[in-house]
Amino acid sequence: MTAKVIDGKAFAANVRAEVAAHVARLKAEKGITPGLAVVLVGEDPASKVYVGAKDRTCQELGLHSKKITLPAETTQDELIAVVQQLNADASIHGILVQSPPPKHIDEEAVIRAIDPRKDVDGFHPENVAKLVLEDPSGFVPCTPAGCMRLLAAAGVETNGAEAVVIGRSMIVGKPMAMLLVAKNSNATVTIAHSRSKDLPAICRRADIVVAAVGRPDMVKADWIKPGAVVIDVGINRVDDATKKSGYRLTGDVDYADVAGKCSAITPVPGGVGPMTIAMLMKNTLQAARQLTE
Ligand code: NAD
Repeated sequence: MTAKVIDGKAFAANVRAEVAAHVARLKAEKGITPGLAVVLVGEDPASKVYVGAKDRTCQELGLHSKKITLPAETTQDELIAVVQQLNADASIHGILVQSPPPKHIDEEAVIRAIDPRKDVDGFHPENVAKLVLEDPSGFVPCTPAGCMRLLAAAGVETNGAEAVVIGRSMIVGKPMAMLLVAKNSNATVTIAHSRSKDLPAICRRADIVVAAVGRPDMVKADWIKPGAVVIDVGINRVDDATKKSGYRLTGDVDYADVAGKCSAITPVPGGVGPMTIAMLMKNTLQAARQLTE
């Protein structure tokens, strides 16, 4: 079997075009430009790349972008003060503090300081509750929202499907499971994690496998039921002397192995990653609309 490649770049381009059109209309009709503030504390190289990409995408789609870079020694109180200023700034509708912050900062405390109406990452407890309640006024975390959009765009039937989500983080695994089990999706969902017993056997039951672990090439072909759909969320840097950067990106799924067994698969890069940023733009548009209604 040759798997269909789920082209995240192409599907993300559709979302971006939709967002750009709505942003243009909001500007023309109401004079409102959705604004996103991204705060980066410290020098983490991967975080710098993500923040740069978010800033660029805002500009490409016509959103106002405010990039705030703070030194690694910024205290938690100083960071929260910056968040509070952004909460009060009428030109900003979405606020995102790039994860992970330096170790001396309690990320949870910072997330709680963000006005939930501007929490476009969907990590504030109020938005977590709205996700569980299936309340559409909440913000759905961008990566799992992007995965759902990819499944829909690829024509994958979730109704009654067995889905296995590997990973139970608040950023990907848990919200992904909530979205799959929600009434507009209707999958039967298993959440697997580092303490799960016989992960390969759990995965073999799945019609849809979502891998969000952070371990390069972990999921192998013999974990996959023939014809299953595989969504690879993992972004792992592995050493590669043939690359100018000295590394390459790989997912949590052994793509070459699994692609011969499944019916459809997302590549890394070019799968979930581009969709995540597109969904962030969509959430910022939603925030701007809801705040200015
Ligand atoms: P995390 O470290 O917070 O969570 C990892 C999860 O994997 C944990 O719940 C843990 O229980 C589980 N796990 C660890 N080892 C395991 C094992 N051996 N077997 C089964 N489960 C195991 O990570 P995260 O933030 O959820 O991110 C997961 C991956 O997704 C990372 O590679 C990250 O870079 C990537 N990611 C990608 C995007 C994107 O836009 N594509 C966004 C967020 C995260």
